[in-house]
Amino acid sequence: MADRQDVVIIGAGAAGMMCAIEAGKRGRRVVVVDHAKAPGEKIRISGGGRCNFTNIHASPKNFLSDNPHFCKSALARYTPRDFIDLVERHGIAWHEKTLGQLFCDDSAKDIIRMLLTEMRDAGVALRLGISVASVERTPTGFRTMTSEGPIDSAALVIATGGKSIPKMGATGFAYGIAEEFGLPLVETRPGLVPLTLDPGLLESLKDLAGVAVDAEAKSGKTTFREALLMTHRGLSGPSILQISSFWREGGDVHLHLLPEIDLLAALKTARKVNGRQAAQTALAEQMPKRLAQFFVEKSGLAHRSLADLSDKALDALCIGIRDWTIRPAGSEGYRTAEVTLGGIDTRALDSRSMQARDVPGLFFIGECVDVTGWLGGYNFQWAWASGYSAGQAA
Ligand code: FAD
Repeated sequence: MADRQDVVIIGAGAAGMMCAIEAGKRGRRVVVVDHAKAPGEKIRISGGGRCNFTNIHASPKNFLSDNPHFCKSALARYTPRDFIDLVERHGIAWHEKTLGQLFCDDSAKDIIRMLLTEMRDAGVALRLGISVASVERTPTGFRTMTSEGPIDSAALVIATGGKSIPKMGATGFAYGIAEEFGLPLVETRPGLVPLTLDPGLLESLKDLAGVAVDAEAKSGKTTFREALLMTHRGLSGPSILQISSFWREGGDVHLHLLPEIDLLAALKTARKVNGRQAAQTALAEQMPKRLAQFFVEKSGLAHRSLADLSDKALDALCIGIRDWTIRPAGSEGYRTAEVTLGGIDTRALDSRSMQARDVPGLFFIGECVDVTGWLGGYNFQWAWASGYSAGQAA
C-alpha cells in the first residue's frame, strides 16, 4: 500500500526545506525526498562556505525572468528581514560583507542545521538517498514512485533546482515533470558563470592569469561594477559572473578598468612631475603591474618615457583601458555556473502560491522556475520566498 501524505516535496535544497517548514507549521503531513545523501548541499558550499544567505537590498529589479513582475508577490510575502529574524532566533551570527550581502560569521552549515531544526519542529519527514522514478496524477492528487515505494499526496512540490553543477546531483528533473504536465519552459542557459576566450586571445592574455582589478563590465545596456579576475581559461570575478547572465553568445563584453580613477589626469600629472618615468611604471601605480605592462605593450608604448608621449598617445592608452572590448568564446557552462537561467515559464504558475495554473496541487519553487537572481544572496532569497509562498498554499 502506498504511503499517504498531504504534501510531497521533491528536493531538500533551500526552497524545498523552506516550503516543508511552512507547510508543516500549518499542520500538513509533509515528506521531503531527495536523491542526495545530505540535504542542502548547495547551501553548504555557498558563499565560500559561509553562505551569502540573503541581500538586504533584494527587490524585483535584481532578478532576470521573461516576466519581471512574477517574482514581486513572493518577494513581498517573505522578505530578507523575515529570513534575518529566523537566523537571529537560532543565534546564528552574521555580517554584511559588501553591497547588502549577508553572510554567516562562522559556517554555511549553521543555516542547514537551522532549517533541519525548523523542519523537525514542524513535524516534517526527510527521506534522503531516494530516487524518484516517476510522478503520476491520481483521483485525489499525485502518486510519486520512489525507490522505496509509492507515496500518495494531495500536493506535490517540485524543488529540484536547476542544471548547475551536475557533479553535485543537479538534474533536469523539474523540467521533465513540467513537460509531462504540459507546462511551457523558457530555454535554460548557465548563469553567474566564468566566460571563456578563444585560444588565440587566451594566448595573448596568458601572462595576466591571476590578476584582479576593479572594473565595470557591460553587455548591452547592463553594467556591473565589481572585481574582474583574469584566469587561465578567460574572465571571472564578480563583475564577469554578474554580466554573464546578460551576455549572449556572439556578443561583446566592454570592460572599463579602474572606473573610479581619472587615469588620463593621473598620467599627465606623472608626466609633469617625473617625465623620465616609464609609461608602464606610472601606470603600475594605478593598476597591477602585469596589467600595466600589457596595456602599454598593446598600445606600442613599451619602454617609452612619459615625456616622450603626447597627450594623444596618453589618451589612446587610456581609451584602451576605459573601453577594453572582448568577445568571449563561450562560458564554462553548467559545470561551474552558480545558477540556471530560464526554466518553468512563469505564465504557467500563480505568482502568489507558485501553483501550476492548470494542474491544481502541483507547485514549482526555487531555481527551476524562470526567476534568476544576480550574484549576492538574491538566489537564496528567491528560494526562501518562493518556498514560503508554496508552503502557505500546499
Ligand atoms: P537546490 O539548492 O539545487 O536544491 C535542489 C535539491 O534537489 C538538491 O538537494 C538535489 O539533490 C535535489 N534533486 C535534484 N534532482 C533530483 C531528483 N531527480 N530526485 C531527487 N532529488 C533531486 N546563491 C546565493 O543566494 N548566495 C550564495 O552565496 C550562493 N552561492 C553559490 C555557490 C555555488 C558554488 C553555487 C553552485 C550556487 C550558489 N548560489 C548562491 C545559488 C544557490 O545555491 C541556488 O540558487 C539555490 O541553492 C537554489 O535552491 P533550490 O532549492 O531551488 O535548489
